[in-house]
Amino acid sequence: MTEQHFKGLTTHKAKELQEKFGKNELVTEKKENFLHKVLHVITEPMFLLLIVAATIYFILGEPKDGAIMLIFVIGVIGIETIQEWKTDKTLKALKDLSAPQIKVLRDGTEKVINSLDLVPGDIMFISEGVKVPADGIVLKASTLAIDESSLTGEAEAVWKVTQDNCTDTSTDYWRKDYCYAGTLVTQGTGTILVDKIGPSTEYGKIGQNVLSAPNNPTPLQKQTGKLVKLCAVIAAVLFIFVGVVTYFNISDHAFIDRLIESVLSGVTLAMAMIPEEFPVILTVFLSMGAWRLAKKNSLVRKLPSVETLGAVSVLCVDKTGTITMNKMTVRDTWSFTNDTNSLIKIMGMGCKADAYDPMEKSMISYCEENGFSRDIIFGGELIKEYAFTDDLKMMGHVWESNESIIVTAKGSPERILTICNLKASEKKIAENKIIEMSSQGLRVIAVGQMNLNNIDDIPETLKECSLELCGLIGLADPPRESVKEDIKTCTKAGVRVVMITGDNGITASSIAKQINIPNSDKIITGDELNNMTDEELKERVKEVSIFSRVVPEHKMRIVNAFKENGEIVAMTGDGVNDAPALKHADIGIAMGKRGSEVSREAADLILLDDNFSTIVETIRNGRRIYDNIRKAVGYVFTIHIPIAFSALLAPLLGISPGSLLLLPLHVVLLELVIDPTCSIVLERQPAEEDIMERSPRDPNEKMLTSKNLFKSIFQGFVIFSASFGTYYWFLNQNPDNAPIARAMGLTIILLANLLLVHVNSSSYDFAVKSFIKAINDKIMWIASLGTLIGLAVILYSPLNSFLKLAPLSIKQLPLAALIAVVSVAWYEVVKLVRHIKNHRSMKNNQ
Ligand code: ADP
Ligand code: MG
Repeated sequence: MTEQHFKGLTTHKAKELQEKFGKNELVTEKKENFLHKVLHVITEPMFLLLIVAATIYFILGEPKDGAIMLIFVIGVIGIETIQEWKTDKTLKALKDLSAPQIKVLRDGTEKVINSLDLVPGDIMFISEGVKVPADGIVLKASTLAIDESSLTGEAEAVWKVTQDNCTDTSTDYWRKDYCYAGTLVTQGTGTILVDKIGPSTEYGKIGQNVLSAPNNPTPLQKQTGKLVKLCAVIAAVLFIFVGVVTYFNISDHAFIDRLIESVLSGVTLAMAMIPEEFPVILTVFLSMGAWRLAKKNSLVRKLPSVETLGAVSVLCVDKTGTITMNKMTVRDTWSFTNDTNSLIKIMGMGCKADAYDPMEKSMISYCEENGFSRDIIFGGELIKEYAFTDDLKMMGHVWESNESIIVTAKGSPERILTICNLKASEKKIAENKIIEMSSQGLRVIAVGQMNLNNIDDIPETLKECSLELCGLIGLADPPRESVKEDIKTCTKAGVRVVMITGDNGITASSIAKQINIPNSDKIITGDELNNMTDEELKERVKEVSIFSRVVPEHKMRIVNAFKENGEIVAMTGDGVNDAPALKHADIGIAMGKRGSEVSREAADLILLDDNFSTIVETIRNGRRIYDNIRKAVGYVFTIHIPIAFSALLAPLLGISPGSLLLLPLHVVLLELVIDPTCSIVLERQPAEEDIMERSPRDPNEKMLTSKNLFKSIFQGFVIFSASFGTYYWFLNQNPDNAPIARAMGLTIILLANLLLVHVNSSSYDFAVKSFIKAINDKIMWIASLGTLIGLAVILYSPLNSFLKLAPLSIKQLPLAALIAVVSVAWYEVVKLVRHIKNHRSMKNNQ
């Protein structure tokens, strides 16, 4: 049967069937409805406080104030809900992008669809590395082997056959002409008619334990969770303190008034103290970060990886395809028997006719260039295949034509030579040639043949063969153009690049030299690795960056050796056997193009373009995101200090409740500014210029180091002194006009807030740089203008009386602006001092 006989389904029919049978998933995802989300937002302590404040206004007989308060509250809830909705959407889109896919026959053509959308009746194509997504009947199989251990516990792979070829229609429950969901294709290809999907599959029946894992909080989320709790406790203590002080301050009021006013001032303080922005910052920054990465070809599968990325200190990469282009060309041939034509032909016969391996493809086209068409090479009848395995590193075919039987084999020279019939002197000649070709960075493949007289003489395995050596083939697979530059970047960034390859050491080392990997003459081979203890390996990896002739199983030991040394390891992989190493690595990176489904499932990150540069770019972005989270948290601290301290200090100074700098209304107003500043403005801050010139972050380091905390608090105090001082001075000048004093104070806080983002965008580069970067950024303009327009509205529109503010005069406004600038820009002087110091020390070093 050929492909043409299978028609598959039409899209229309598939849709119908999907309505009938549902999606191909084990558990249907629960949809969280909108109301649920709003409820989630309003049960947060912050909102409870807001509601309490609004209620108090109503009780106080100031329904106008209460109403404004409620409008603001709705505004804040709105912002939060939109944010949550957006992050949910982003995360879902990411999930869809990285969902398992499968090739099917739809509308008469081959298409790749999400496995979720499979329906009974679909024709699907499976191949090595695919995790079978549904139960189905085998229509066609070519050396199709499937690992069914997840279902049967049987470690040995099962060879699948079609029904006609299925000899044992035995009693066995697990059929040979049937494929089961959840099992793994380890070899070959197959065409399957989907029979059962989702919960009706065998896997689905036992699949209760495979419920999707809950989203665990990331390390950062845990850290901030603790921080928020700490702040909440402090807020509760101060709530009582401020309440009591207020109560005694206004002893001339009636009891009920005293009580209400003290609760209100307590609530204001508590509102100012609770850093409810922290969790929001994290989810928004991480998910938006992941989304931006996805647009740049790297798909994050697990959100915490975005954090970890910035801390990566060792990057283990496969040579072929990631560092090199995986575009092989035959560069050199060396015939042992002085018969180059025969060498080329035998090499071709050792390839698969339907080759997808770039190396085999290039070999076949080399044959064609030299006059050996496909008809000539693949003209005979293929009567046996010796499959390639990572351990064997060679493969072979047995061809029959015109009564003659010939075994053709090719593979790594070390292995082929061991099964060749060679004298010691002949072997020496070949080995010298191998070294010569490898030193040029070529992949060397040995080709051998064996003629047989009888079908019964065909050996069971390749190892039992006794070949005649035909010669050697040298293939070039040049490094990607950008790799040299990328390695330089990594070296500067303190990230060690480690090359892992199945090729031989000389080839690997020659390529490593071409791209300037440090220590490129030190190599560990797979055999050496086998004879090493974990302790020895741990020591050796401190200086060796090249691993040659390794098999995927070695990768896990390599990952663990680095991890033992305290490194944060990123590791690439594409094959089925790479999955364990990908899981063990701190960041497992699967290849989107050539990677197997299984490796993708085990990975934290999928590289859509298989390109090394993308990994480096991803690390840069990981660092940027972490940096911005840090800045945002610092910012939140800074900006909360003027708010909290004015709420704390006012009762101590005996300011009457009606004349406070910040009434609850104003606190909410500020929250309305702080939230977007964090989640929009700070989230999109570009990376600092030296971000790839720093060493990787210490993974154990706290998000808020004491140095940063001190800086934030100090900056906050300066803004507090400026705003509260101005307010207090104005209030003393004119005790009856609290609105004007308040307007001054509030304007200073709002303008300082605007400037703070730019000043803090780097602790070394001047704010001017950040301004220049922001000039072309529409969103930054919108956010900044939004604050300014908002300020104008609350000061100069009729709204001001509602908000208990007064318009600032033509003299007062510039004064407020000036004070705001000074209260933030002083940090630029600190930077200047740093620059001068740096300059001096550079001079002294010369
Ligand atoms: P890498 O890790 O660089 O991709 P592989 O694991 O693909 O290397 O291959 C390791 C070695 O196995 C190669 O250097 C080559 O000697 C041999 N090899 C790979 N593919 C084939 C093939 N299709 N036929 C014969 N030998 C092969
Ligand atoms: Mg390969």
